[in-house]
Amino acid sequence: MTVLSERHGSVAVLTLSNPPVNGMNQATRAALAAALDAAVADAAVQVILLTGAGRSFSGGADIREFGTPAALAAPNLRELIAKVEALPKPVVVALHGTVMGGGLELSLACHYRVAAPAAKLGLPEVKLGLLPGAGGTQRLPRTIGTAAALAMIVSGEPEAVERLAALPGQRLLDAVLPGAWPQVAIDWAAAHATTVSDRVVGDWPLPPGGEAELAAARARWAPLAADQPAPLACIDCVAEAHRPIAEGLAFEAEGFATLMDTAASRALRHAFFAERAAARIDGLPADTPTRSIRSVGVIGGGTMGSGIALATLAAGLPVTMVERDEAALAAGRGRVEAGLAGWLKKGRLNEQSHAATLARFSTRTELGALAEADLIIEAVYEDLGVKQDVFRALDGIAKPGAILATNTSTLDVDRIAAVTSRPADVIGLHFFSPAQVMKLLEVVRAAATAPDVLATAMAYARALGKVAVVARVCDGFIGNRMIEQYAREAMFLLEEGARPEQIDAAIEAFGFAMGPFRMSDLAGNDIGAAIRARRAIEQPGLRYPAIADRLCALGRYGQKTSAGWYDYPAGERRGQPSALVAGLVDDARTAAGFPARDIPAAEIVERLMLALVNEGAKLLAEGIAQRASDIDVVYLYGYGFPAWRGGPMAWAVEVGLSHCVQRLRHWQQARPERAADFEPATLLVERAVAGGF
Ligand code: NAD
Repeated sequence: MTVLSERHGSVAVLTLSNPPVNGMNQATRAALAAALDAAVADAAVQVILLTGAGRSFSGGADIREFGTPAALAAPNLRELIAKVEALPKPVVVALHGTVMGGGLELSLACHYRVAAPAAKLGLPEVKLGLLPGAGGTQRLPRTIGTAAALAMIVSGEPEAVERLAALPGQRLLDAVLPGAWPQVAIDWAAAHATTVSDRVVGDWPLPPGGEAELAAARARWAPLAADQPAPLACIDCVAEAHRPIAEGLAFEAEGFATLMDTAASRALRHAFFAERAAARIDGLPADTPTRSIRSVGVIGGGTMGSGIALATLAAGLPVTMVERDEAALAAGRGRVEAGLAGWLKKGRLNEQSHAATLARFSTRTELGALAEADLIIEAVYEDLGVKQDVFRALDGIAKPGAILATNTSTLDVDRIAAVTSRPADVIGLHFFSPAQVMKLLEVVRAAATAPDVLATAMAYARALGKVAVVARVCDGFIGNRMIEQYAREAMFLLEEGARPEQIDAAIEAFGFAMGPFRMSDLAGNDIGAAIRARRAIEQPGLRYPAIADRLCALGRYGQKTSAGWYDYPAGERRGQPSALVAGLVDDARTAAGFPARDIPAAEIVERLMLALVNEGAKLLAEGIAQRASDIDVVYLYGYGFPAWRGGPMAWAVEVGLSHCVQRLRHWQQARPERAADFEPATLLVERAVAGGF
């Protein structure tokens, strides 16, 4: 049963019971409607109390039903809400946990609302490219005013009950009730819920005010509405909340239906499911045992080692950092301490938790200090020999059963594992920089990695609040192997005369957080140069335009040398277009024999995106990535790809896989000397027939 009914004196207590979050799927809606009818028919019942079992009252609509007949099957959410609002007996809702979306919209139709002090309420539909379509945009403003409702609806962020209860003149919450839940709510309902008259939110007048907030929100979101229509549609609905409720609801329903059919909403819903699918691993049952991780060792205290230490400390685990000498150790310790001090300043830690976190952090110069660690993560220089030396030494030190992980970005994890006597315990944990911030973790499953090691790595990622995606071993794994093709294509565009700032602007307008040249200046252009030098030996046939190496030969490594693809005048982090680089571009174009031409932004975006998609299809065919949506997750969480485009593979499906194939063939003809680069991946051609991955 998804709804349990009990009677406590004159109060009928109806408890939603549909784990994990009491989602309002069709079965639950039907059960609630039936339970409401029974309570109305029962002469002994004077008041109805709605509450939820488990962690929260309700997480809202079941988005798995979106776009399916089940979402419309009677009673749909709007019908159920109308039924509650029209009941002859007072309905009280008891809110606890995080009450989201349809759960909050249902509450707004109840005649009284009480909440537990720690509860949070939110309307997150905008994050799926939608608007609250079951009355939220019309009823919430009537309870807390236009400005506060607008902020919640347009951000999609949940708001704490204590802040909502403190809003002047609010009629959202009748009481905030500390004490044993749900008994306090039952007692409150018995004592206070006496009538339905004047308790119908839809009949309440809209409080005055909010015009300035509406105008400001419109000014911010209207220019973006072509690609991201949901925020503006939310604003438009809230602006109509002054109308009679029936008219407002009809306007809202129309807006919801329109958004449901937009590319942005399809992309955001895809991203939502893609993130959940990434946790499933082919051939690894969900009940695979895990090893317990009670302490973590980190080798290397540079950029990555210190970030990994911070991320692990933040999850409450003790960390021991090992560096090769006292000076490097002091620098690594300094980076971690500075990170913790920053969290203290921002209020993410208080004095007490800051001290406790520092106490869990220790630093040593001997690897022997890691003898008892359950998980050891290596983050030393990106050099196979150096890493193999570290793993050889670890093999002699780590306790049996310890997991040995490498943070390599590009190196062969199998060759690192092979120097140990326990390759089954070796895995790649590829963090992204800054590791304490970026949500993505690529978990690299080497040939011999044991199932429980893989399952433990996924659990460790979850404990850190990261989104983990599994990749098999190859040069660059999923993310960096694809970005290499994208960056290489960007360099070929330079060779045809496009300026770095022009390429960055085009792809940033498409939605990427940062274009390839700004990104390279941030990461250090010397890193790319070193990778190209290695590839020149491993893949001598692969041509790169010479311009990036020429830039490095001038010592223009990026932000760290105040000069790279851009100039960085003293103290500025935002680079300025460089006359010197413009000269390099012109020289490269002349040397390559391309005539000067205006390169349209659409061409830049197309060529960069096709480079990503084509390489992504190869990764899928090789089994490096388990599924296309995993590739999307890597790009959404690791590379600043716009969520409202769903990821590169979802983008390809949206524009059409056959279109992608046809455009690659076009570029093969237009650039015959690079025909191999534009050769459509076999899997892309195959899947183009079906139209999806
Ligand atoms: P870094 O140069 O900032 O830090 C490396 C640290 O390792 C240095 O402090 C060095 O003293 C220490 N070290 C070297 N040999 C050691 C040894 N034998 N024992 C103990 N410490 C030793 O480099 P980084 O940027 O932190 O990169 C580290 C690893 O992480 C590399 O494999 C890199 O490819 C990978 N990675 C880097 C990034 C990034 O954006 N920087 C992202 C993902 C992965």
